[in-house]
Amino acid sequence: MSREDEQGPLYQCVRCGTIIKLSELELGIRCPRCRYRVLRKIRPPVVKRVLAR
Ligand SMILES: [Zn+2]
Repeated sequence: MSREDEQGPLYQCVRCGTIIKLSELELGIRCPRCRYRVLRKIRPPVVKRVLAR
């Protein structure tokens, strides 16, 4: 169905806030929507298990 399981690094345009996948940046770091070049790297949420005592 979908390859959403492959969650690589995501980028967000600091201008319009569009979330861009790394695979969409193969042509270069640029927002596909507003063509802004400054993208901010977003870390996927990391689930940490903390043992509660
Ligand atoms: Zn943008």
